[in-house]
Amino acid sequence: MNNQQRLHRILRRLVRPLRRRIQSPPISVGLDHFDGPTLILIAHPDDEVFCSGLVCELLSKGQEVALICFTRGEGGERGPYKPEDNLAQIRVEELTQAAKTLGLSDPTFLDYTDPICTDGQLGEPEHDSSELLRELETVITTRKISHLVTHGSSGEYWHPAHLCLHRHARVLNRRLPQLQLWTFNAWSASHPIPAVLNQDDATHLTLAGETHHQQRLDSLTCHRSQAEVFRRFGNGSLEDFISLTATECYRKW
Ligand SMILES: [Zn+2]
Repeated sequence: MNNQQRLHRILRRLVRPLRRRIQSPPISVGLDHFDGPTLILIAHPDDEVFCSGLVCELLSKGQEVALICFTRGEGGERGPYKPEDNLAQIRVEELTQAAKTLGLSDPTFLDYTDPICTDGQLGEPEHDSSELLRELETVITTRKISHLVTHGSSGEYWHPAHLCLHRHARVLNRRLPQLQLWTFNAWSASHPIPAVLNQDDATHLTLAGETHHQQRLDSLTCHRSQAEVFRRFGNGSLEDFISLTATECYRKW
């Protein structure tokens, strides 16, 4: 996180109580709002876990869902893999398998490099904004996407690559009138893992329930290289993480 992002984060925290007070009551919508092809746009292989319940739900209703990943996640943790192992290739295979387990076709990977995390500083991929917007706009128009689901306004836990996709999705939302933008991990006071929530995003759609528990768990288990990350988030096993995130909250923009 650079100084500008740090300042932005502090300012958000200062105005948050006021924003919550003046925020209009959230609209509450149902899944029937998803009435056309949906594109899930994530920064790294494994981020799809934040909306895996929605993916299962839409696919079970016969909706079309596609998955695009910004990077191959080569900057992430290696888990049980050795330094000489090709982490990008491993994570491509992990996401492909995780997507298949959810019932999705092979994900599309955009050709951006996930920077290696140094001194605990996460980073965003080097990119040209206009080129990234052009690539995303092409996918959206070619595939006639009507719903885009991506990272929230705080990048969940202020991950620069998540924030980067959120910013670009907001531009596309303004540019393409037919496109409806949704972001995951919206704020819910009762969520058991508040550290992964976007505190400024009001919830407009809540998906509650355990219906897709096993499928979500099987899918997350495919991310062998990242298992430890989710164990830490859930303060327990992968199954604990899946149980704690059974309820998914979305903001509509
Ligand atoms: Zn991520």
